[in-house]
Parts: sequence; structure tokens; C-alpha cells
Amino acid sequence: MKRALAIFLLLAAAGIPAAPAQARLENIRYYAYPEYTRVVLDLSREVRIAEKVLKGGEGGRLFFDLKNCRFALNYPADKTSEIRVAAGNLQRIRIGKFQAQTIRVVFDFDRIGRYNRFTLTSPFRIVFDIYRQEEYVSRGEQARDARQAGTATGTAAAGGQADPGAGEAVPAEGRPAISGTPSIARQLGLGVHRIVIDPGHGGKDPGTVNRRLGLQEKDITLDIGKRLNAILNEHQELEVILTRPRDEYVPLEERAAIANSNQGDLFVSIHTNSAPRLSARGVESFYLNMTSDPWSMQVAATENAMSSKSISDMRSILDQILRHSKVAESRIFTQSLQECIVANLRGKYDAIDDLGVKKAPFYVLLGAQMPSALVEVSFLSHRDEAKRLASPEYRQALAAGLYLGVIRFIRGLGKE
Ligand SMILES: [Zn+2]
Repeated sequence: MKRALAIFLLLAAAGIPAAPAQARLENIRYYAYPEYTRVVLDLSREVRIAEKVLKGGEGGRLFFDLKNCRFALNYPADKTSEIRVAAGNLQRIRIGKFQAQTIRVVFDFDRIGRYNRFTLTSPFRIVFDIYRQEEYVSRGEQARDARQAGTATGTAAAGGQADPGAGEAVPAEGRPAISGTPSIARQLGLGVHRIVIDPGHGGKDPGTVNRRLGLQEKDITLDIGKRLNAILNEHQELEVILTRPRDEYVPLEERAAIANSNQGDLFVSIHTNSAPRLSARGVESFYLNMTSDPWSMQVAATENAMSSKSISDMRSILDQILRHSKVAESRIFTQSLQECIVANLRGKYDAIDDLGVKKAPFYVLLGAQMPSALVEVSFLSHRDEAKRLASPEYRQALAAGLYLGVIRFIRGLGKE
């Protein structure tokens, strides 16, 4: 010990930095489905990764080393050597100590097409999105492709699930054009069958809280989500999936995974806003992209539960992810939601501020493969808006506005 201390002092005196603190692997979670798997590694701090992919026609393997890392004391005992993944394109995950300071993780696939890796902070997480094919194909696109191929037999092209919409008489049109053509929303609309509604927060995460009125964001978003679900069911135009149908905690990274794995065609995350400036009020909607606007960064930081400083670190993550995201369609979808919510509220209420459509890097939207939006329906920090949010009529009006925005987008009436 004495010698170690002496060496440490010597190094410190020489200005040589001591070895960085060791990271601990706390858990490995996965969301596996036939066409798509998301794996999340929970770590105590940032780690350096060295990775390799071995692709084969049949089967594939992705392995990577977590440097200067060891298992946390509370790491689940049943995940220390192998995790058998029952479903999905991922067969199993193997975990082991490779060297004294290194943990090696191996994914064995029956097939691997494209994969994305990105990291999230506070706490540090590594997320892998792995697709069976090079390009993700949504459920609506599958159904449309099946129709175009003349296989309108009620079976989707892939996955083999019964598809009630596939037998309908729909004019044959080409695949959606690459972004830039004016009719992109209309063309895309042909393939929209299933919407994923994400009520923000839940369980141990209350979101924004208005203590004076005893209101929590998680309760309001769930109620609006359920109301939107009810309206959609009533009209039977779309299948609906809720990321959380009750008051439960769902990690942010699981929500886009739910949307992807269920092959959703649209994804909307519902939130209530808050601001230190108590006079701030109104409706604003976001799509996923980088921003330099301080307020948008602030909103994203709050929703991501991170510091606004680390928002700027997300640029490199986003560059990689946005290449495979439907950015142009997401912007049109977001605009459609924003305009319809505002118009619908203004028909019934005064003083509805339209804060417009903005972009920001939200964790919950990262990796979502369909047009997606995050809507801040009103400010829970504003005296009058909080009172309104407490009333079922106002929440119903918000849900109706969201519904109108979804339908307008699908019908291709969203403005470019
Ligand atoms: Zn929120």
C-alpha cells in the first residue's frame, strides 16, 4: 500500500492523470421482436467501447468490449454469462470478463441487417438498435406493398400477421417518394394503419408537478392519451397502441422500442410544459432534430432529465440516427398536430398561444422509425392553464385536437 501511495503521489506530482475511474455494468435490458431488437446497457459512468461485427448470410455476431469496466455489485446474477432471448432476431447475449479490466458482450443473431448504437447520459446507457433488414419497413408499408404485389389476401407481406386493412380497395400508387415532393404526406398516408400513443412519464417519474393544485404531468398525459385512444377507437380508422395504459414507469428508451417493435406508422409523445417564467403559456410541438434555440434545448433537457449542457453533446448521436429517421415527414406530422390542437382549443377557449413547431433532441424520439412528434399541450406552471388542465373538458379538447391533427396528416392535408 505504501508503495502504491508513493507511486500515486509521484504521478500526481508529475502532473500525470491517475487512471480514470472504473465503470460498472449494472444491467442489460432488451426488447426483442422478430424484425427488430433494442438492447440497453445500464452503466455507472461513461465507458470506452471497441466493437466488431461479423455478418453472415445466415446468422451474425456483434461483439464489443467495455474497457475499464466491471460488474456492479447489484448486477443480476442470472445475466452474468448468457441471456437467452426467446423471441426476435437476437438469439442470445453472452457476457464475460475478457481481461481483468474488460467486459466482453457478444450478440448472436439469426440475421442482422442494419444496426445503430448510441449513448444516453444521466445515467449513462448504451443503446443498440438492431434490424433484421437493412431498411425498416413499417406495418403500413408492408400492407401497402402486399396490396401492390397483388397479394391482398389479408396477410401482411412480412411477419405473417392478419391485416384487416390489406383487403381494402385502395388505388395502387408507388412507394412514398424520397423527401421533397409536395405529395409526400398524402402518399405516406396510404400506409398509416397503426398509431403509437405515448403518455409522458409515469410511475416513479411524475414529470412536471403543480403543487398548488396537486397536479402531476404523468396523470394528465395518461388521461389525454386514453381520451385520444377512445376517439380513435370510436372512429375505427387506426389501430392504437399505448406505451403505458396505466400509471407505470416505462424508461424513455423503451418507448420508441415499443413503437418500432409493434411496427407503428405514427408515434406521438404527450407532455405538459413548465417554465421558470410563470407567465409562459401556450401549445408547442417538437420533432426530433438538433437545435440551437435555448428554450427548445431547455425543454429537451427537462424531458430527458439531463442538464442542458449535455444537449449539445448529442449532435454526433443525432447525425447518425437522423439518417434513418423520417425527419421531413415528422415535421409535417408535428405541424399538423400543432395547428389542429391550437385551432380546436381556440374554438372553445380564449388566450391560446400558438408557440409553433420546433425541433429538439428528445431521448424518447431517438430511433423511432416512423413520423414522430412530441407535443407540449399546455403549461402546468401557468396558473390558468394548470386550472384548465385539471378539467376533463379541456383534456378532451386537447385529445380531439390531437385526433384532428393525426387525421389531417393521414389525409395528406398537412402543409409543407
Ligand atoms: Zn414531460
